[in-house]
Amino acid sequence: MVATLLSFSIMAQTNDAEVIKSIYDEALTESPGYENLRYLTKVIGHRLAGSPQAAAAVDYTRQLMESHGFDTVYLQPVMVPHWVRGEKEQLRMISSYAGTQELSVTALGNSIGTGNAGISAQVVEVQNFEELEKLGKKNIEGKIVFFNRAFDYTKINTFRAYGGAVDQRGAGASEAAKYGAVAVVVRSMASQIDDIPHTGSLRYQDGIKQIPAVAVSTLDANLLSTVLKEDQQLKVYVRTTSRMEEMEPSFNVIGQITGSEKPDEYIVIGGHLDSWDVGEGAHDDGGGCIQSIEVLRSFKALGIKPKHSLRAVMFMNEENGLKGGQEYAKVALEKNEKHILAMESDRGVFTPRGFTIQDPDMLKQVQGWAPLFAPYEIYEFIPGGGGSDIGPLKNQNTKMVGFLPDSHRYFKLHHTAADVFETVDKREMEMGAATMTALIYLLDKYGF
Ligand SMILES: [Zn+2]
Repeated sequence: MVATLLSFSIMAQTNDAEVIKSIYDEALTESPGYENLRYLTKVIGHRLAGSPQAAAAVDYTRQLMESHGFDTVYLQPVMVPHWVRGEKEQLRMISSYAGTQELSVTALGNSIGTGNAGISAQVVEVQNFEELEKLGKKNIEGKIVFFNRAFDYTKINTFRAYGGAVDQRGAGASEAAKYGAVAVVVRSMASQIDDIPHTGSLRYQDGIKQIPAVAVSTLDANLLSTVLKEDQQLKVYVRTTSRMEEMEPSFNVIGQITGSEKPDEYIVIGGHLDSWDVGEGAHDDGGGCIQSIEVLRSFKALGIKPKHSLRAVMFMNEENGLKGGQEYAKVALEKNEKHILAMESDRGVFTPRGFTIQDPDMLKQVQGWAPLFAPYEIYEFIPGGGGSDIGPLKNQNTKMVGFLPDSHRYFKLHHTAADVFETVDKREMEMGAATMTALIYLLDKYGF
């Protein structure tokens, strides 16, 4: 009996190994994903929520999924914020010691503008909110606060370095406003020293005065800090005409292959269709969207019939509101749709390493499949979350999985003008999509 079971298990693994090989083979030779990403990024371009390009991307991905012959493709309405950057921002350092110099700057998403005339004020540099509190109102009022805490370069996964610095960008404006600051300048959330400013969203706290916030490149943050040490009277001039407009109607885009055995149990694979209004949102997150579509296309191309219903979801407005993810979870609850699993690809489109898996039992189960992934150099199955867009499903008992690519290059491109199609490698993107497909294949087949 033991021998029979054992041989069955070996048989199953052999069969799975063959199916998984066919998934990688097909992706590496037949996938249209890279050309589809080219269209999304080069023809449509960047796709901030509420923009005409975001609307074009909704149309395009709907048509794309229809052309792949998915069973159902539909749009899910959602209201999204519409933030507008306005004119090219200005940040000028004015020092009697070092002269006047323009710095490399970008407004933070959701920031209000400075008014047409701009704001000119003395600068106070801080590393964190504790320093801000110590300095207090008497040292901060009427000034511009400069948040300059850098990434910790010793963190091997750059998302940890990002996580250790990003409070300055997200909450810095409101924290500084509590002490009477008139604007904030934030060091870019970047893993290297260069001249590219990184945008990203901020959140204004209710009841706190809203003040403008911009990000400065890491190179110019270092310059500003150096000059400040010699010239404490240094001023900066900042001007941005960014503004928040009325909410706009938009959509999540959903494509489905209906399950053969449990059609009422859903597995979601997704990314976010919106991007920042700089660059082309290629790594963040056009690539993740196309990879999610590729998972379903791959099932169809290979004639694999999923037991559960598979959905590729293009979430809208992850970057500056998360309205798409929230709406998707809300509708799932209202319709009583049982979402058993959600996987997100939103960490760039680099060489696949593995997955982060939230549920400890599922993690153990997936680690047991490691031999099936080893031929593709996929070795990392570690604890961790799924992603922002699928996050709101967590109260519905949905198991969360995050696609985990190499992280070293992501934070030199993230939220910048440099996140363009040309920085995405075709083979890496295909390997990523195949890796996602292989895990979905196993989880759909064996359950968890
Ligand atoms: Zn993203």
